[in-house]
Order: sequence, then C-alpha cells, then structure tokens
Amino acid sequence: MTTRTRPTELSPHSRRVLELLTESDKPLTAYDILAKLRDVGIKAPPTVYRALDALIARGLVHRVESINAFVACHEEHMGKGAYFAVCTECGGTQEVADEGLSVLIEGLASTLHFHLERGILELQGLCAECAHSPRLKASA
Ligand SMILES: [Zn+2]
Ligand SMILES: [Zn+2]
Repeated sequence: MTTRTRPTELSPHSRRVLELLTESDKPLTAYDILAKLRDVGIKAPPTVYRALDALIARGLVHRVESINAFVACHEEHMGKGAYFAVCTECGGTQEVADEGLSVLIEGLASTLHFHLERGILELQGLCAECAHSPRLKASA
C-alpha cells in the first residue's frame, strides 16, 4: 500500500512535469522543463515552478540542491530524507532512501537539540559508468 497521491489527482501541468521527470534519466532544471513544455504551450516560468512545488509537496519529486535540478522520486519514503549520489561527469543522479542514514541524522539532530526540518545529503563523485570510462582514465 502506498500513501502517495495518484498522478490523476494532480493538475494537468503537474502531471506533464512529472511525466517529463520520470522519463528523463537525469535531473532536469526548471529551465530544461520549461524548454520541453514550450511545444505544449506552457511558456511562463511561474507555471512550471507551481507544478514543481505541488509535486515536491506530495513527495513525488525532489530538488537536488547542489545542482539546482529536479528528479522524480524513485523510492518509498514519504517524509523520510531523500539522499542523492550525484555524478559530476554525466549528471546522473541516484536516489538513496536509507533508513539507517535517516536514524543517524535524526540522532545527530537530537544530540544537538536541533529541530530538524529536512535532512539534505548529496554525495558528489563519479557514477560506476563514468568511473570506468576509458576517456576519463586517459585524461586523468
Ligand atoms: Zn524520493
Ligand atoms: Zn556518470
């Protein structure tokens, strides 16, 4: 059972933005999304931002802060932290929902008497594919 809002309950714009993010194998910036929506007549950036806000509020999309881009959620973790491994070479992003990591971060916050609203953890490096790319090895 999932507590997620079904895409049918979203506005048509939000649904279209969610489709784009789900189809994309890389995070998309708001600008990328806007460029792709031009052909369906959406031209105003606020429309895209409103759609993204609605999707983020439902936990269907996450913002990857370090690259200022958006990804569709690939995990079941309503309310729990979303952590990312971001490849600095190809821009590919892997979502990690690790219960142990959330417990660790919440424990750390409580030790600090810190009222945690959102834990953001983004790892930067090379994905498996880029790490083994002969091109990158040659230039290293
Ligand atoms: Zn997620
Ligand atoms: Zn990569």
